[in-house]
Amino acid sequence: MTSGTALSTEGLGKRYDGREAGWALRDCSFSLPAGRVCAVVGPNGAGKSTLLALAAGLLRPTEGSVQAPAREHLAYVAQDKPLYPQLTVDETLRLGRELNPGRWDGAVAERITAGLDPATRVRSLSGGQRTRVALALALGKRPELLLLDEPMADLDPLARHELMGVLMADAAERGTTVVMSSHILGELEGACDHLLLVGGGRLRLDGAIDDLLAAHTLLRGPIADLAPHRVIESRTTGRQLTALVRRDGHVEGPWQTSTPSLEDLVLAHLRTEGAPA
Ligand code: ADP
Repeated sequence: MTSGTALSTEGLGKRYDGREAGWALRDCSFSLPAGRVCAVVGPNGAGKSTLLALAAGLLRPTEGSVQAPAREHLAYVAQDKPLYPQLTVDETLRLGRELNPGRWDGAVAERITAGLDPATRVRSLSGGQRTRVALALALGKRPELLLLDEPMADLDPLARHELMGVLMADAAERGTTVVMSSHILGELEGACDHLLLVGGGRLRLDGAIDDLLAAHTLLRGPIADLAPHRVIESRTTGRQLTALVRRDGHVEGPWQTSTPSLEDLVLAHLRTEGAPA
């Protein structure tokens, strides 16, 4: 792995065994610079969890390779947030400290679990409270790379906002690279600066979000010939045309142009099978 790269893959693919065997992820190559906060976006079944588990070293690639930091420098919070149900909140954090000698950050773990009774057993916590404990364990470890699989799904909007704030401030302060999957685009816009868009087991888009947005133009106006533009998606409603095109050169035509939002970009690419990557 070249220095300055936090996570990279080369021709990465995973095929699950068993009755419903099939490729969950195929031909996935990217390189994520250190310090980025990366959103992994895509519909259900796209291969997001598979990609994160491969990055965490919990799944073995069927083909290709992953380069990630060594296990002690990496933290992974799986979607189901596995914890020991019989331990209390306090005991869980103590375990975190003991498993990460010399690097455990109790202050950040306590900030994230503030408001929880330390004597409560994990099994009697709500889903959202368990999320807090799992995130506290992950951040307390002071990882270089933090892998989060739909971390905020169980949280109410207020807690989600608060925890995202803590997470982002901590990552910025430490220069932690974060890779976070979600299908809630609103949760990611503003927090993330890098995008991996996965659809049907393939990497559809990869890059800095600002660059990706600047590389596209949203057109609105009368129905007219879109050639020679490289069209990602076009739709007509009545006499109105809306299209997302690659900004390869000068956009000419009778349309109003604007820079797309992250949501415009993601939806257009997901709606269009085989859009130019
Ligand atoms: P996402 O996280 O984007 O929802 P997943 O990575 O969980 O997608 O799944 C990608 C594909 O792999 C899906 O078709 C899913 O059914 C399949 N899959 C995931 N885990 C397994 C497994 N353990 N065994 C067989 N198929 C699996």
